[in-house]
Amino acid sequence: MSSAEKLIPRDEGFDPARVKLDFPILKNTGLIFLDSAASAQKPQCVIDAIANCYSRDYANIHRGVYELSARATANFEAVRETTQLFIGAAEAREIVFVRNTTEAINLVAATYGRQNVGRGDEVLITEMEHHSNIVPWQMLCEEKGAVLKVAPMDDRGALMLDEFEKLLCTRTKIVAVAHISNALGTVNPVKEITRLAHAHGAVVVIDGAQAIPHHRVDVANLDCDFYALSGHKVFGPTGVGVLYGKAALLESMPPYQGGGSMIETVRFEKSTYADIPQRFEAGTPDIGGVAGFGAALDYVSELGLDSIERHERELLAYATDLLAEVPGLRLIGTAPQKAAVISFSLEGVHPHDVGSILDHEGIAVRTGHHCAQPVMEHFGVPATVRASLALYNTREDIDALVRALQTVRELFK
Ligand code: PMP
Repeated sequence: MSSAEKLIPRDEGFDPARVKLDFPILKNTGLIFLDSAASAQKPQCVIDAIANCYSRDYANIHRGVYELSARATANFEAVRETTQLFIGAAEAREIVFVRNTTEAINLVAATYGRQNVGRGDEVLITEMEHHSNIVPWQMLCEEKGAVLKVAPMDDRGALMLDEFEKLLCTRTKIVAVAHISNALGTVNPVKEITRLAHAHGAVVVIDGAQAIPHHRVDVANLDCDFYALSGHKVFGPTGVGVLYGKAALLESMPPYQGGGSMIETVRFEKSTYADIPQRFEAGTPDIGGVAGFGAALDYVSELGLDSIERHERELLAYATDLLAEVPGLRLIGTAPQKAAVISFSLEGVHPHDVGSILDHEGIAVRTGHHCAQPVMEHFGVPATVRASLALYNTREDIDALVRALQTVRELFK
């Protein structure tokens, strides 16, 4: 089957209860899993793809002349093409395999950033960023004597676009923004952000960690310069992520790490580097992980991102309505454009206690600052409870969550 054929969605109606059966951990344990924003569960086809890679198709890639290595290389490079199609990149060489979103952002900061940001220059982020999209820029700014600027959000957790625009100036070299906030669910207007940033000559890095499993992402349409994502959030294995970069930018950038696979020639006096994307892929990559990642993208494509998005939108509305009935529950993050992340606090109960009681009821949610301490500070809370939804969640899962929260209410009366 060609990659294009593989990306044609299934025609039948979307049935989350049936989808759930594709995930052994959910099927076998009955666990109600509401923590997909931290990491999503894996369908059987992903687990099989990893096992098949190691049991049938495994050898190191890009080096061997023997048939097995050639096949392993072809399989690995096919996933690069699947990824290209999945995110709408113009060319497969614009896809760089890394470990995760964090590494993708660090790669841009350490290469493009070090090369292009100088004393007095500015990097603009937003108040709702994950630590992965704050700290690498802080480190760059400290090293270069540059300034980190932060665009504010309002009390619904929506970006204040006019304030963002006011912070753009000729010194702004990089704008780095989450597509979707992991702590609030806010969907940022990344196309408009990109347009505004480009008008001021800045390049745009989008942290797509939360968008990729929920939203159809089209980097060509967004016109962003870089897009970072993690395989494990989109039902693939841990250890594989992607940095998308426009070819002309990637070509202009120095290497990230030195080592095997990223060179053209090595002499003690001087080495020369490989073309993109290999220039940024030093060392042996996660070959089995990439096989699993490819299967995950195929899986999502077959279900159809439009169906997934519709399902999650309906489920979010259903959950938001029901949670409003729970006494003392305060939703944190009510932006008009919102994805399936529900952060909340429950009056008089510490979020960790809520999480432990829900766990007792067979419901997994995350509690804490969600690697977004500035967001917690904005809302004046140390932590929240976060229920995050994915394609395998059902209305019954939400009903169970609300019932369990009523139990918490009873216990803390
Ligand atoms: N950005 C956002 C918005 C995230 O939600 C996460 C993961 N929680 C990351 C970045 C970091 O992803 P990873 O840990 O896979 O590098």
